[in-house]
Amino acid sequence: MSYKAEYIWIDGTEPTAKLRSKTKILPDGAEPPLWGFDGSSTNQAVGEASDCVLRPVFTCPDPIRGGDHRLVLCEVHLPDGTPHPTNNRAKLRPVVERFAAHEPWFGIEQEYTFFQAGRPLGFPDTGFPAPQGPYYCGVGADEVFGRAIVEAHLDACLAAGLPISGINAEVMPGQWEFQLGPGGPLEISDALWVARWLLYRIAEDHKVVATLDPKPVKGDWNGAGAHTNFSTKAMRESYAPIITACEALGERLKEHIAAYGHGIEERLTGRHETAPWNEFSYGVGDRGASVRIPWQVEADGKGYLEDRRPNANCDPYEVTRLLIDTCCTALEKAGQL
Ligand code: ADP
Ligand code: MN
Ligand code: MN
Ligand code: MN
Repeated sequence: MSYKAEYIWIDGTEPTAKLRSKTKILPDGAEPPLWGFDGSSTNQAVGEASDCVLRPVFTCPDPIRGGDHRLVLCEVHLPDGTPHPTNNRAKLRPVVERFAAHEPWFGIEQEYTFFQAGRPLGFPDTGFPAPQGPYYCGVGADEVFGRAIVEAHLDACLAAGLPISGINAEVMPGQWEFQLGPGGPLEISDALWVARWLLYRIAEDHKVVATLDPKPVKGDWNGAGAHTNFSTKAMRESYAPIITACEALGERLKEHIAAYGHGIEERLTGRHETAPWNEFSYGVGDRGASVRIPWQVEADGKGYLEDRRPNANCDPYEVTRLLIDTCCTALEKAGQL
């Protein structure tokens, strides 16, 4: 007998990469092997030298097909075995190794928006719904839109064994969030890409589009982010390392903003629970700061920080790499391991 392996990878679309996938039939019990694809159709190669290599890095049960079928997340490599330039996971791996002693953990809050017929789900055919206020964590057909998809996605993530930790309806109609973690940088980033794929795939069956557009509706409507909660062993044990990390983030503002997702200037305006993209701030319980220290963390004198800046459309391999590099370098300088 055989099983279906859905090979999933991240393409080379600019400015924001897309997910791609295709199916390979494998003999029962066989490990998913290397495979190839036409890189000239994914912005990853030119026609004359179009072969790209798929290298499986994470697999889990396929909750859509069920049975013994599997999802297979891949890194993209060149035929000579070196990482493709679009392979951001390969850039994260050495940083994870270098700072492994810090035991970094991440929890990512993925916000997203459902669209149907070119409008956010729940928006009237013309004009706008009532202003924001009742929708966040709401209940009732006049306040939440798309719950059946969201529940199906949550069940799928659980069946796949992904480290999903919660869901909630967001501030704009048709906008939702799921949380992953806490867990290690590769574990959480891989899981986020698979969870995104599942979201698109399940919404497809409902004839709804899920988008990670960071500002899906211009004007007085919340954008969509990917708040990234971060801690190291030292931060989970005492408070001073959390402050060291916050200060370090302020010193590398530009580098972080450049890697936190296309269109970030449109979302981080200083309104709608954001800080301006070109100013750095941190504060306890402050949802208008770039980085928030949760009140419970201050009360406990240890825990984690929340970088509120990453866009919904960010690449978690980039975001986790920069957070580890910036914060762990500063912690080492301060002797706070
Ligand atoms: P918010 O109040 O910002 O909406 P959420 O409950 O949506 O918070 O998300 C909190 C996130 O923090 C979760 O993803 C969780 O995994 C993560 N988290 C909790 N503890 C830690 C920790 N010590 N290190 C990193 N992330 C953590
Ligand atoms: Mn949240
Ligand atoms: Mn949120
Ligand atoms: Mn948050």
